[in-house]
Amino acid sequence: MTDSHPDATDTAQKKLFAHQFQTPAAPATASSSTQSPKVPVNEKSTTGEHIPPGYTKLPNGVILDREGKPCRLCTSAASWRAITQKAKAQSQTQAPNTTMKQAPTNTPAQKPECPPDVEELGRSTWTLLHSLTAAYPAQATAAQQTEMRTFLGLFSRLYPCWVCAGDFRAWMGTPQNEPRLATRQEFGDWMCQAHNEVNRKLGKKEFDCRLWEERWRTGWKDGRCD
Ligand SMILES: Cc1cc2nc3c(=O)[nH]c(=O)nc-3n(C[C@H](O)[C@H](O)[C@H](O)COP(=O)(O)OP(=O)(O)OC[C@H]3O[C@@H](n4cnc5c(N)ncnc54)[C@H](O)[C@@H]3O)c2cc1C
Repeated sequence: MTDSHPDATDTAQKKLFAHQFQTPAAPATASSSTQSPKVPVNEKSTTGEHIPPGYTKLPNGVILDREGKPCRLCTSAASWRAITQKAKAQSQTQAPNTTMKQAPTNTPAQKPECPPDVEELGRSTWTLLHSLTAAYPAQATAAQQTEMRTFLGLFSRLYPCWVCAGDFRAWMGTPQNEPRLATRQEFGDWMCQAHNEVNRKLGKKEFDCRLWEERWRTGWKDGRCD
């Protein structure tokens, strides 16, 4: 690991990101005029994108955690790479005599094993969540429904992309979106709708929920998964 890696140590991170980030509590100073301004909570970003309540997204796409530090699990890989490369470039300028190890250049075929960003975490998590619906009993007992309701409640509190978790919890908390857990069919359909809610928020194409079972349980009817 090189000195310029943002996760090297907390101190190093603060040092590296000091030129870009402030904790929410820290007041702006005259010397901070070159910093990226933070998008205030509950407003629109410079790109006109809606900013959900309770979190801060910088114009460079980086989302801050509750302590005001960059949250990798909440940020896209592209935005994260942009800040780490900027930090590396800056630390090389500031310490020209320091021997820096060259980060290996990675082709897609040699993708490095790194901590997940918001997208990789999301894909893996949806795989787990939809697989839970696929493995759910065709008719669930009261106890099975309670177990799953408890899991979903805990999941919506513990999911490590905290901004994602907050939105998911809010969606699930409205009476018309409460988990439907009596049967596999209705649970699978509910999860598909939950996923589509996020797809809509991110401007992605919605999934046809009539097909959730082919996608996640039986495999496609054309046999491509056999
Ligand atoms: C609970 C939760 C909340 C999230 N909130 C945010 C957020 O606020 N901001 C953010 O940037 N990212 C969020 N994510 C991550 C985001 O949903 C995606 O996982 C990520 O952007 C990667 O998207 P993708 O296009 O690779 O496919 P994904 O959306 O991860 O989907 C994976 C696969 O699931 C299938 N699929 C797609 N939609 C459905 C559906 N409706 N039903 C069944 N199957 C489907 C498709 O085959 C798709 O290839 C969240 C993830 C989770 C689990």
